[in-house]
Amino acid sequence: MGAGPAGLCAALRLQQLNYRVALVERSPRWPRPQIGEALTPGVKNIIDFLDANQALEKVPHLARLPTRLRWQSHTPEIVAHSNSAVVNRAAFDAALLQLARERGVQVYQPASLTRVSGQAGAWQLNFATPAGQQQIQACFILDARGRSPQHIACAPRLSASWVELAHTDIPVGLAHLTQVEAVEHGWLWGTHLPDKRYRVMLLCDPATQHQLMPGRPEVWLRANCASSQLFTAIAELPFAGRLQACSATPYLAYDSWQEGRLKLGDAAFALDPISSSGVEKAMRFSLQAVIAIHTVHHTQQASRHELAREFFQRRLIETCARHSLWTQRYYAQVWCSHHAFWRERAVPYPDTLKLTADASTHALFDALQQEFEHLQNYRQPELKRQPFLREHQAIRFSRDVKVIKAPCVMNDQVQLWPALQHPHLESPLAFLENEALLPRLAILSHQPTLAAVLGILSQSMSIHKARRLLEWLWQRGLLEATH
Ligand SMILES: Cc1cc2nc3c(=O)[nH]c(=O)nc-3n(C[C@H](O)[C@H](O)[C@H](O)COP(=O)(O)OP(=O)(O)OC[C@H]3O[C@@H](n4cnc5c(N)ncnc54)[C@H](O)[C@@H]3O)c2cc1C
Repeated sequence: MGAGPAGLCAALRLQQLNYRVALVERSPRWPRPQIGEALTPGVKNIIDFLDANQALEKVPHLARLPTRLRWQSHTPEIVAHSNSAVVNRAAFDAALLQLARERGVQVYQPASLTRVSGQAGAWQLNFATPAGQQQIQACFILDARGRSPQHIACAPRLSASWVELAHTDIPVGLAHLTQVEAVEHGWLWGTHLPDKRYRVMLLCDPATQHQLMPGRPEVWLRANCASSQLFTAIAELPFAGRLQACSATPYLAYDSWQEGRLKLGDAAFALDPISSSGVEKAMRFSLQAVIAIHTVHHTQQASRHELAREFFQRRLIETCARHSLWTQRYYAQVWCSHHAFWRERAVPYPDTLKLTADASTHALFDALQQEFEHLQNYRQPELKRQPFLREHQAIRFSRDVKVIKAPCVMNDQVQLWPALQHPHLESPLAFLENEALLPRLAILSHQPTLAAVLGILSQSMSIHKARRLLEWLWQRGLLEATH
């Protein structure tokens, strides 16, 4: 359900894996307008993986717009972007939907869900379309309907309000670049759009706006532009169309995994828009969710189902925790970090949930907090600078290396596979450069020479790659010479 990037990515991937897919989109207006147009480079890799490049060729976009950024210091800097793009999201989503249709996905649009009955593996969905009531049977239901009302907030409240300028009104200095500026009460983002309009958006705490300029969002936006350095020229200009607004508070939804029923994209989690990576993360998570579904579909074993659930939940928590920490650190860098908006966001979000939520929400919240603390305490190791080990030296794993079993993706399914755990690793490591490290490196328990290990590894990969992998482990202190 939902033909945004998350739902479309899942539909296209499931179709590649030979599932029969039905996609239900509510919007009667199509292509429907949508924000979230600045795409990070990783979207391109996902599009390649879905074999969808051709379908997107005609989508209007502006590639490699540089960003003028006023963030850490009063003086703006120009940041170049080699692989990012600002797309027309309506056209982007519409092109992917058209591709899904052409590849055999059954699309119901416009259609609105009226009833869900049955159970995991045998759902019945009823929905209303202009042609009347429809019913389909489904093994899985994927909810990709966008922002979820039931969630754990991962940061203080944030709202977005934006307006557009007509092509003819864009000040000369703003054309053909994106601008981002930290101001006292939030941050401003502005960009040229592929259809030549210019959009300016303010992200701030809705409570501040309510307190300082209640009921006058447009005046509030203009006041913030006027107090800025990069957007002053916009403060007095006429706006093309009315001001629009939405919530932008980052969150994690409570119940993204229910048996046979999963949430994807913004339905499962929302990230702070400062990174402009919501679309990429939504699509990436859909690919991971498909792996979980594929695993459940291919086995009756309860333990594998549990593994799939664990994999899904871990990816969800990791995505939110990593992004929260990144945002917190990025917000801490601003030139105006002494102001309340920035102070509140530069520290971990307070633990207020315990007062309100039920047991399963607590478990999710605790897992999120644990991951957050783990990432916060993790320090990248200093890489060894000495020359790599010599071939005659006997080698072994460092004493701090533990071998554990971790959920890994193999043949598009989740499987338990041996992985290395070490304080210098952010998370357990099973594969390096797509090569399984274990059981190949189990031989290290016999303390062989480097030459012997290279000999074994080079039976299944190039000697250069084998050397590179061992050097990678050695530089991080996972591998050592015996003395
Ligand atoms: C202010 C702001 C700025 C952002 N800027 C960026 C950015 O620059 N770059 C970026 O990558 N991300 C950005 N994001 C995030 C990005 O917009 C989202 O992460 C992304 O759109 C999520 O995709 P999705 O498919 O989960 O949801 P959506 O894109 O919201 O798609 C959901 C779809 O479900 C449909 N739907 C809703 N209800 C139903 C229903 N009942 N039945 C059937 N269909 C339904 C909707 O019509 C819609 O088509 C921004 C977010 C905000 C809030």
